[in-house]
Amino acid sequence: MNINELDSKFNLAIEAIKDAKSIYIVSHVQPDGDNIGSLLALGLALKKIEKDVFFLKTDNIPKDFLFLPNIDLIKDYDEKEIDLLITLDSSDEERLGGNIELLEKAKKIVNIDHHLSNTNYGDINIVDSQAAATCEIVFKLIKKLEIPIDKDIATCLFTGISTDTGSFMYENANEETHLIAAELLRIGIDKQEININIWQNKSLLKTKLFIKTLETLETYFDDRVAIVEVTRDNLRAVGASMEDSEGIVSFIRDIDTVEVAVMLKEFEEDEIKVSMRSKRYVDVSDLCSKFGGGGHQKASGCTIKSDLEQVKKDLITELEKVI
Ligand code: AMP
Ligand code: MN
Ligand code: MN
Repeated sequence: MNINELDSKFNLAIEAIKDAKSIYIVSHVQPDGDNIGSLLALGLALKKIEKDVFFLKTDNIPKDFLFLPNIDLIKDYDEKEIDLLITLDSSDEERLGGNIELLEKAKKIVNIDHHLSNTNYGDINIVDSQAAATCEIVFKLIKKLEIPIDKDIATCLFTGISTDTGSFMYENANEETHLIAAELLRIGIDKQEININIWQNKSLLKTKLFIKTLETLETYFDDRVAIVEVTRDNLRAVGASMEDSEGIVSFIRDIDTVEVAVMLKEFEEDEIKVSMRSKRYVDVSDLCSKFGGGGHQKASGCTIKSDLEQVKKDLITELEKVI
């Protein structure tokens, strides 16, 4: 989407916001920082212009994000009327989990996202794959609405941008990302506290799962592909939950020879959630889309209904074609 197109979409969204009284904001299953950050930031901003804002809970909130201001406002749907539903960071309807049915209930849908694979399921779709995080798009929308960004909103936006860019390390963190971050810093956020909360806050349990999972490491194709498994047995053995596996896949991507890192999460015996990361040239979003998933070029995922061994075999067959 070019700048003019994007601008006209912003104007349509602003009109829809101004027309609505009850605004429900929702994001995806297995929430990440960009998801929770954009949800809270946009909701807090819209409350300032006297909207009835409802922050919808799609899934359990990982404890890493409980430090965010007003996190307690995120709740289950209250069965009331929805003038406007704003979806965030969700590339397709399925990503909304149990809240998918709200798409039918809402009078209007604004879909705000940065995934190239977005299916444009909204009435108004602000999809900018150049944005490093949905929080960047929300930042622009709040500015266009002329709502002042306070410290709480800025904290949420910075968190989403930081988590989706690997603390500004990945190539998606471009000039504009840094300019937005600079503006958020100027507002007076506590960067050190945010960074400690999101990057230096691993529980001992998570660390134990990390160690256990690294023991499953296998490499293929001259060590260019690395695969780890988070099995239900291992989760039980250390007393951890699946959300504690977050971060392991990027750790194995950092191995010098590795181009593609894969983490297989055994949710059920025959339901494996795949997390994939690449370093230089492999488009893992393309690869995951072959299994009904998607995401970004260098960070993507899918869910496959087979057992661990079968999933591994199928992925290796596809990986061999691109590695
Ligand atoms: P994850 O590995 O869960 O951190 O996800 C990495 C990226 O892939 C994120 O941008 C997700 O939005 C995307 N993603 C993960 N799982 C799926 C899926 N089943 N369908 C579409 N996109 C996904
Ligand atoms: Mn996300
Ligand atoms: Mn995102």
